[in-house]
Amino acid sequence: MAKVALERVSRRFGAAVAIADITFEVPDGAFWVLVGPSGCGKSTILRTIAGLEQATEGAIYIGDRQVNGVPARQRDVAMVFQNYALYPHMTVAENLAFGLKMRQAEPGMVRDRIETVAQSLNIAHLLDRKPRQLSGGQQQRVALGRAIAREPQVFLLDEPLSNLDAQLRDDTRAELKQLHQNVGITTIYVTHDQVEAMTLADKIVVLDRGSIQQIGDPQSIYANPANQMVASFMGNPPMNLFYSAYEAGNFFIEGQSIPCPERLQAVVQSHASSRYTLGIRPEQVQVVAETEAFHLKSIVTLIEPLGRETLVKVELPSTTGATTPMLNLIAPAAFPLQPGDRLFLRVDLEQLFLFDASTGERLA
Ligand code: ATP
Repeated sequence: MAKVALERVSRRFGAAVAIADITFEVPDGAFWVLVGPSGCGKSTILRTIAGLEQATEGAIYIGDRQVNGVPARQRDVAMVFQNYALYPHMTVAENLAFGLKMRQAEPGMVRDRIETVAQSLNIAHLLDRKPRQLSGGQQQRVALGRAIAREPQVFLLDEPLSNLDAQLRDDTRAELKQLHQNVGITTIYVTHDQVEAMTLADKIVVLDRGSIQQIGDPQSIYANPANQMVASFMGNPPMNLFYSAYEAGNFFIEGQSIPCPERLQAVVQSHASSRYTLGIRPEQVQVVAETEAFHLKSIVTLIEPLGRETLVKVELPSTTGATTPMLNLIAPAAFPLQPGDRLFLRVDLEQLFLFDASTGERLA
């Protein structure tokens, strides 16, 4: 096992910057997840660590060894991609053994190792089959097994579950987490799926347009997003964001207002602009009766029962005639209303997020 460190790493393709000034250190044995929208540079970072791509600038360390310029096969990393590409003419056992045989491992040792890996991935009963006789999930487990069997110092996984259907993805995700707990190999995992990131990671690195937006453990990234991009990306359904003007103790959203809580007064007083982006998590909105104190009037547009709870989409009727903001909220499972019905909402003001409207930086 080994730590993996990047120091000010950039990769350009001609004039295009794929990743810029990337610095982080994944401790020995940790499970880190790189997450972000398509094209943000996740795969480029992983491929640069693997040696499949060269950094234009900066230093990459695996353990204490700087590996810039070291060929991929000498870096002692195993990489698994979403298209797992097993050798079709070999059995599962032969696929698992491939990396070890290439290193001329002793046959008895290869047999033992394959058995252990196959047991831990629940594929021991498939060792004599060819890849075409396996389901997608089984093939993916063999691909993971082939990587693990080599006992690399570092495990690099690029969207390894994206070819699997929803149920299988959930199962394999849980197995992967269990596997990491058992073998403890330093792992860097790339996904665009924030649920995968939240459930698997010790630490999450959120990327956007080639740059790191935030590094933190899943809970702190959710509770304390550094900026609007992180806030809107992490959370399902995502945080509601509203362009808002502040005036005389109130934030206005297209004519409706939310009082500025005590907690945010100092921030608002010291901020140069009166324009903000307000952030409200769906679970932070409560449906109340018209006779109770409420902040926002809304009209139900869509109801999505999720089993344990209901996702309700509403629009906030505009009194200014500009745009009609939409809001997602989480209601109890038994939700009696229909699209078109009026709904009165109270927002938990203590949980209100405030961002600079022009930079997206978090203010509170
Ligand atoms: P996705 O989730 O869609 O796979 P990603 O976050 O992994 O995306 P990368 O594949 O790392 O993103 O790409 C980052 C940026 O670098 C993109 O804008 C991409 O177009 C660009 N890029 C990647 N590889 C090359 C290349 N070989 N030549 C030119 N541009 C490239």
